[in-house]
Amino acid sequence: MEAMKAKIYATPEQRATLLKWVAGARWIYNSKVNENAYLSTFARKYMPIGTYPDIDKKFSHFKSGDGEWLKEIPSPILREACNKWVDGFFRYLKSLKSKKKDGRKVGKPKLQRRDRGGDIVLDSTCFKIEKQTESHVYLLVGQKNNNIGILKVKRTKRIGDVSSARQIRISYRKGIFTLSLVFGESEDAYVSYANDTIQYLKDNESLENLLETSIGVDRGVRTPFETNLKSYDLTNSAKRKVNGKERFIKRQQRKLHRQVKGSKKRNKTKAKIQKAWVQIHNIREDFSHKVSHDLVVKSSAKIICLENLNIAGMTKSSKGTKAAPGKKVAQKRGLNKSILSKGWGSTAAKIQYKAQRNMKIVVKINPAYTSQTCSCCGHVSKESRNAKAFDCVSCHYKDDADKNASNNIRMISVALIHLGQRLDDKGALKMPESSKDRGEFSKTLEALRTLKQGSMKREPISKALPKV
Ligand SMILES: [Zn+2]
Repeated sequence: MEAMKAKIYATPEQRATLLKWVAGARWIYNSKVNENAYLSTFARKYMPIGTYPDIDKKFSHFKSGDGEWLKEIPSPILREACNKWVDGFFRYLKSLKSKKKDGRKVGKPKLQRRDRGGDIVLDSTCFKIEKQTESHVYLLVGQKNNNIGILKVKRTKRIGDVSSARQIRISYRKGIFTLSLVFGESEDAYVSYANDTIQYLKDNESLENLLETSIGVDRGVRTPFETNLKSYDLTNSAKRKVNGKERFIKRQQRKLHRQVKGSKKRNKTKAKIQKAWVQIHNIREDFSHKVSHDLVVKSSAKIICLENLNIAGMTKSSKGTKAAPGKKVAQKRGLNKSILSKGWGSTAAKIQYKAQRNMKIVVKINPAYTSQTCSCCGHVSKESRNAKAFDCVSCHYKDDADKNASNNIRMISVALIHLGQRLDDKGALKMPESSKDRGEFSKTLEALRTLKQGSMKREPISKALPKV
């Protein structure tokens, strides 16, 4: 699944209709929230313990009485709004069973507020791509006999061929409509495509070629993205901008606390804070697009190797409970903030969809020991690594710590591909299971290290020149 965003320029009539549709979707969602709350209270009071209201996808009963006006809105829009509530409720129920396992608590779906804007999701029955030119995309939005006419969307660099779009989402925030296109290919289709490619590479490519056409990416707290070739970080001016905005937000938030709730001035301050958040988000998104573009589209690598990180688990709060308070809470909070601000997850998602479009593959591996292993001799030791630098206690190979890790990620991935290991349904390469395969895996890793050393020795050209 991939999504690409573009600003919409709608006529006043189109805006009015779209606003009504957004309001309708919110109405259905909120009606489901209220209905569930009412039925839950009823069940708690009058039914045997353990009785809960059904979670159903019914919504047509909201279209009468107060909701008479909903009849003018294409039904699929309302259905998607109802599904959104159902999905949210199931996420909540699931989080009750496996409590806080991923570090997050999921609440019940809450009432959507009008001042926060809203979204509508349109499936293939509710939009049609009429025409695509080099600069614009023309969409017929709505059903055959209930539509807003043709919507003109400016094509940005990021919007390629849109003919395979499966869904569109129109979001309304602070007076601006944006369009997202959601593309068809599911994750399963990607995994089976990637596995076919791995099979092909295993049968046809030498170990040396595999190593040369792959790129290892290490995600670090100090440098957000480090590959065996290059490191990526926000530019200094972007960092300054983000810092400035964050200070601005802090100041405005202090002001907000002093202002009277519901007052005009307070709402103004609130809008200022929101705007600053959006600006920070835009800077980070821009960086994330640049990194993924450079790694996937610009580079000649065919295989992009990442670590399989559980970001939600890593950024879990260490607050603990009242009975058993956690340790170093503030420190962990700082680390979490720093991890989340690097955009590891969203960049990985972008790498994935860009790879798919460019016929390249992304593989993920288990990150265990990638930062403690020497990429030169394979010796594993905690002592080899201190903060920035890697200095192998066994062979005294010196390198940047993140660069060393990215080399390990790359070599482990290549060794697994060479062995013909397949991706699981989450896109991660499985480790070999039988002892024979494990032996083969270590041998391949050994060979790769020798290959890497060979390429390093070749580098100083002066030594290779013939003596006169
Ligand atoms: Zn070493």
